Formats: sequence, structure tokens, C-alpha cells
Amino acid sequence: MSGKLHLVATPIGNLGDISERTKQTLHEADFIAAEDTRVTRNLLQHLNIKKELISYHEHNRRSSGEKIIARIIAGETCALVTDAGTPGISDPGEDLARQCIDANIEVYAIPGPCAAVAALTISGLPAGRFAFEGFLSMAKKSRFEHLNALKDEERTMIFYEAPHKLTRTLADMLEVLGDRRISISRELTKMHEETMRTRLSTAIEHYAQTTPRGEYVLVIEGAPHSSKREEYDEAAMAEAVAATIANIKNGLSLKDAVKITAPERGIPKNALYSAVLKHDVTKTEDRESTSILRQSDN
Ligand code: SAM
Repeated sequence: MSGKLHLVATPIGNLGDISERTKQTLHEADFIAAEDTRVTRNLLQHLNIKKELISYHEHNRRSSGEKIIARIIAGETCALVTDAGTPGISDPGEDLARQCIDANIEVYAIPGPCAAVAALTISGLPAGRFAFEGFLSMAKKSRFEHLNALKDEERTMIFYEAPHKLTRTLADMLEVLGDRRISISRELTKMHEETMRTRLSTAIEHYAQTTPRGEYVLVIEGAPHSSKREEYDEAAMAEAVAATIANIKNGLSLKDAVKITAPERGIPKNALYSAVLKHDVTKTEDRESTSILRQSDN
């Protein structure tokens, strides 16, 4: 009968966060696969557990994964631990779990610390719906593609970041997402734990004076609800109608211009019309055409 894979969460800084079940699982496993065997050896020493350790990391995940799977199929039980936190969250644990599932091996979670969840819960930002975004790429093109794809994301977003990339990441986020609220947690559960709840622009000012140190989680508020975004874009909507009128030079009425522009921009006619009235793009229309449009709207 084949063995099992246990994904064992370990502390993200404070050894006091080790659960009884974590200890028991490490103790009972036939062998432990670790992202960095030196880090895990220290943990095992602290727990007074002597166990065979093999390495499983980003660069050997293919060859090591095959060996681990062969041993599990032969009946052994493997406990997988990564350097810190929950295996599978922004670390190679995800691949081993998938390979085992594909090989019909039973996979169990031994839950525990996870930096993303810890930072979210203390951010003060909405936690009912959130999007975990992991690390942004180092490459400019793909990091901007990633950020641009999140412009309209309404859920709270969580990112991991290394200290040497923090200031650049904050600046890129400000450029693409605007001056959103952000909660920056560093060194969670450790002696120098700190959480700064502010706006992106203020965080940038802060880190212009203070060198970032330690491990960071960034929790950023989502985009305003789409109905709010329409409100903000009213001036742009009114301009779009004015452009339609200007482009069609055969005496187009405001009502017709709104009718043409609404499907083009994917905006409800009512919203477009009230934006036009507020921003007064044309002075030639009378109130009659306003009421006609409102009756027949949408
Ligand atoms: N699997 C881990 C988890 O469950 O949180 C995350 C692994 S990922 C490779 C490492 C990143 O997690 C770090 O670069 C940092 O962004 C974040 N992180 C880990 N420990 C942290 C801590 N104590 N405080 C703040 N961020 C932490």
C-alpha cells in the first residue's frame, strides 16, 4: 500500500507557533523533504527529532520529486516542509502536491502559519474577499503586465516582497494602481515585527528615509466598486460624447450622440447622459431631449 504526503506548515519566525500536530507528523514521517535542509535541521534539533532529511527545492524539484514519489508509492510517508510557513504558498511545495495528486497519492495538510493570511488579518482592509498575488516579477515588462491586470481588481490584494525590491515595487504600484491604502507587515511573529497602515505615497516617502529590512507582506486595497469607478470617470464619459458630436458633423443631437457612444464605451445611457449634463459638454441641447432619453433609456 502506498504511503502519504503531508504538507507541514512551520513557523514564519516564532518557534512558539509550532503545533502539536506538526511535531507529531514530523516525528512519525519516514523521511522529511525540506526546501533548505540546514534550516530544517535547526528546527528538528529544537524539537529533538532525528529523521532522514532530503532536499526538495526550486532547482531540483524534478529529480527530487521523482525520488520522493517513488518512495511514497513504495509505502513510505513523507513530510514536506519549506523554509517558513505553509508549503505550496509561493514555494515549490505546490509542485510536489500536484505530482502526488496526479499519482493518486494521498496528500494531507498540516495547517499552520502563513505570512499572507497573518498580514491580511491585521491589515484593517476588507478580508471577506481577497486575491493572493505572490511575488511580482523582477522583469519590468511582466511586473507591469501583472499590475495592469489588477487595476480593476476589487478584492484586497496580497503580495510578498523582498526588502531590496520594496521601494521599486511601491513606486510601480503607485504608478499603476493609484494612491491606494496599503498595509505593510514586516518580520511577522519576530522580534522586530511591524505593521504600517498607510497610503502608497506615504509608504514611499517613509522608505525614502528608512532602508527596508526583513521580510515583507504588502496588503493593498482593491479598486473602488465598478459603480464608483463610473462616477469618477464622469468627466471622461462626457468628453467621449462631445467627441462623438464633434466627429459627426451633420447636426447630431445630444440624445443621438449618447446613443452612439453608450454601446461603444460599454456605459449605460443614463450614466452617460447625467455625466454629460453635469459636465456641460454642449450648450445646444434643450431639456426636452433629456426627458425623452430618460424615458426610453436602457
Ligand atoms: N510559504 C510561505 C508562507 O506560507 O507564508 C511563503 C514562502 S515565500 C517563498 C517567502 C515570502 O513570504 C517572503 O519573501 C516574505 O514576503 C513572506 N514572509 C515569510 N515570512 C514572513 C514574515 N515573518 N514576515 C513577513 N513576511 C514573511
